[in-house]
Amino acid sequence: MTATRAPAVAEEAAARFRELYGAAPDGVWAAPGRVNLIGEYTDFNDGFVMPLALPHTAVAAVARRTDGRLRLHSAQAQAQAQPRVPAEARAGAEGPQGVVELEAAGLRPGAVPGWAAYPAGVVWALREAGHPVGDGADIHLSSTVPTGAGLSSSAALEVATALALNDLYGLGLTGPGLAVLAQRAENAFVGVPCGVMDQMASACCAAGHLLHLDSRDLTCRQVPFDPAAHGLRLLVVDTGVRHALGDGAYAERRAACEAGARALGVRTLREVPYDALPEALGRLDDPAVRACVRHVVSENRRVERTMALLGAGDVRAVGAVLSEGHASLRDDLRVSCPELDLVVSSALAAGALGARMTGGGFGGSAVVLAGEDAADTVASAVARAFAEAGYGAPRTFPTVPSEGAHRLR
Ligand code: ADP
Ligand code: MG
Repeated sequence: MTATRAPAVAEEAAARFRELYGAAPDGVWAAPGRVNLIGEYTDFNDGFVMPLALPHTAVAAVARRTDGRLRLHSAQAQAQAQPRVPAEARAGAEGPQGVVELEAAGLRPGAVPGWAAYPAGVVWALREAGHPVGDGADIHLSSTVPTGAGLSSSAALEVATALALNDLYGLGLTGPGLAVLAQRAENAFVGVPCGVMDQMASACCAAGHLLHLDSRDLTCRQVPFDPAAHGLRLLVVDTGVRHALGDGAYAERRAACEAGARALGVRTLREVPYDALPEALGRLDDPAVRACVRHVVSENRRVERTMALLGAGDVRAVGAVLSEGHASLRDDLRVSCPELDLVVSSALAAGALGARMTGGGFGGSAVVLAGEDAADTVASAVARAFAEAGYGAPRTFPTVPSEGAHRLR
């Protein structure tokens, strides 16, 4: 798994664009995947999250058109799951070399199958919001973000596309403005009910920092985070599994959170202060709703505790908060799975300071905070535990907070 090296990657994307479309792109943009350190299942409750951008990015080489057509290509298209859209509802014939052709004005939610729905959805969301991107574009995408691993390869594609169009069409949108439109593309056009964290992280993260995001009003604070300066390392462990259970379960948890807020007479669970949690839980009858409320309210508190610890320079102590967060996701929200639990238990047994699943769960990735001297031992212990359990080999890589979406050339 390789991170993105900017100049070479921009060159490569521009060269491929020229092969595909017969002219140079107007520019090349990059948007990263993300890993969420703490604050899971909180964004759709108006709560707090704290992701960092990965060095892995989606790169978009783009040129404006004048005829309203949209041509889309991804270097990784063949590696993606095949679409499940009925033939009669499909739009966008795939031409030679896998280029998908569409009319910008004719885009309809649900009608573009497969990966092309992500960039097409961005064009649709921009147009829906009244932005003049109807002249179309030629787009070539290439990404180093692992897909389906809970590291937001989808948001990376969307944000790279959105930033490119923003620059080329002079839309003047800010990072949060782009993120909200990219989220709308994923929710309403692709049909995935994600919160706003992924797109905000990809659009607004800064190198060397965590992004403390208040999902209620999209207020961002850049929080310096340099594990190496404290003799620590942050590892990402991609379990390589994705349990089908995930899709329905996410919607179910959202519904339980909304039911909890209704029962407590608040607009969202964000409005339940941590100190009021015991009293709030006492007013809830449904055990599943109670467990979701306990997770969200305590998770918001964990984000605030992490902020305080980082502010005090006690990065090591963040480990315990991560592990607590995992227990809450596993036992209360029940969105973990045996593979993620095994990453956490084997990493902790091998001396990690803390570990938790990250992203939507039911597979995907975990984050581990470990001392520099323990990091390799932890990685091998996790690999050994997976082999002993008969699971496929996990992919473990150290990571550092990297740059958010930006223009490469
Ligand atoms: P995640 O965002 O955690 O990686 P998602 O299920 O949200 O997982 O998004 C994965 C989907 O995004 C893929 O199935 C594919 O449709 C699309 N995708 C991501 N990266 C690429 C790429 N490089 N090329 C084409 N499609 C991609
Ligand atoms: Mg995604």
